[in-house]
Amino acid sequence: MTTLPQLTARTPGLPCRLDPNTFFSDQARERDAAQRLCQTCPLRTPCARYALEERIPHGVWGGTTVAERRAFWTGKPWRFDDAGRLRLLCGSERAYRAHFAYREKPGAACVGGDCVEAHAMHVEAQRRARLAEEHDKGGTIRGYQIHWALGEPPCDPCRAANARGSASRRRKPSRRLQRPPTPSGTPGNGAAAPAQAFPLAS
Ligand code: SF4
Ligand SMILES: [Zn+2]
Ligand SMILES: [Zn+2]
Repeated sequence: MTTLPQLTARTPGLPCRLDPNTFFSDQARERDAAQRLCQTCPLRTPCARYALEERIPHGVWGGTTVAERRAFWTGKPWRFDDAGRLRLLCGSERAYRAHFAYREKPGAACVGGDCVEAHAMHVEAQRRARLAEEHDKGGTIRGYQIHWALGEPPCDPCRAANARGSASRRRKPSRRLQRPPTPSGTPGNGAAAPAQAFPLAS
């Protein structure tokens, strides 16, 4: 496999060779300029890959800064998007959320993976975890609802918990019935009477 040093040696006019200080500057303005210069470089992708794999802790390489590369040092799969930004490869919940941060539609904007499917699996896994908690309690109304959200019939303990809840709700008198009767003769169809209508005995 051809290495980056071999590639750079036979590629004339690389901006980082002509002006290396800009690429290793502490100034944000110069770093931005270096990133822009990388965007049109024919070695951008192998250069970024090299800096990511070698965990190079300084300089702009392949249009990426140290801070951007550091987020991928754990080996997460990456890609460049159309705007030249270092991004997660699609196919995970984090990549799904990143689409919204970049004002993109997941699915339509996916590259190298399916974020919509990954999100659906994430949601199902979360629901299954919550359902397990409800089952640890012996089956609950919440568990009953989660079963339906998962598109499956509830288990017997959750069904029984829901039936008990419904029966108890039916037995409880409504708040309307619990309210004390209003005094007869008060004005306005039972509305609270003004204070002066019932003067205190002196
Ligand atoms: S991508 Fe940038 S840092 Fe890498 S070789 Fe090209 S100009 Fe140099
Ligand atoms: Zn995606
Ligand atoms: Zn259940």
